[in-house]
Order: sequence, then C-alpha cells, then structure tokens
Amino acid sequence: MGECIFCRIAAKEISSQIVYEDEDIVAFRDINPQAPVHLLIIPRQHIPTLNDATPEHQTILGKMLLVAQQLASEHQVANSGYRLVLNTNRGAGQSVFHIHLHLLGGRAFHWPPG
Ligand code: AMP
Repeated sequence: MGECIFCRIAAKEISSQIVYEDEDIVAFRDINPQAPVHLLIIPRQHIPTLNDATPEHQTILGKMLLVAQQLASEHQVANSGYRLVLNTNRGAGQSVFHIHLHLLGGRAFHWPPG
C-alpha cells in the first residue's frame, strides 16, 4: 500500500469522516473544507493523477461521477448547485497524488476559478 494517505484512508488505517463506500469507491469529508459541503470521492485503486488513467479505468471514473451525483442529492446541494473539481498535477493545485474528485456545494461559486 505504501505511504499514500488516501489509500490509507480507504483502508481505514487513518481515520476520516467517511460518507460513502462500496467495493470500488470511498467518499469522505475534506479535512480543510472550502465550502459547507466539501467531500472527496476516490477510487480504492491507486491512480496517482488523471494522466495515469487508461481505458481500463473507464468504469471506475464514470462511477466516481455517479457517486458524486448521489452524494450531491444526499447532502442537499443537487438543486442549489455544486462543483466537481479534479486537480491534476501541482500547477492545478493537486497536493495528494491519488486521484480524487472534490464535491463542493452549499455556497455560490464564481467563474473562472482562481
Ligand atoms: P488536492 O489539492 O486537489 O490534491 O486535494 C487534496 C485535498 O485533500 C485537500 O483539499 C485536503 O484538504 C484534503 N486532505 C488532505 N489530507 C486529508 C485527510 N487526512 N482527510 C481528509 N482530507 C484530506
């Protein structure tokens, strides 16, 4: 498993506030929330960045979006609006190198993002 913090969260070696899990996906609250709802949706499989994804990851990547849709509804932001963010590499702000989808909601968001 190595030292990947999100692999360790998925394995429950590090505690987190898990809001969803199944055989492929884990979702938990961001430790430094940037909005009233700020969840991270990750595959259990270690994929460092979106650049490392291949066609064999197509199903899991699609499932991450459907889990986001479900969680947005469960956390009452589906209608008001929510933003999904997938930072790729440091220039975009990626700090944890295990692919993750940010689900942000509960406040207004601006465009373009900073
Ligand atoms: P990114 O900058 O896109 O790589 O996002 C990484 C996110 O992981 C940040 O928003 C951090 O606040 C969050 N994070 C880092 N460590 C933890 C942790 N132990 N539990 C929950 N969220 C974390």
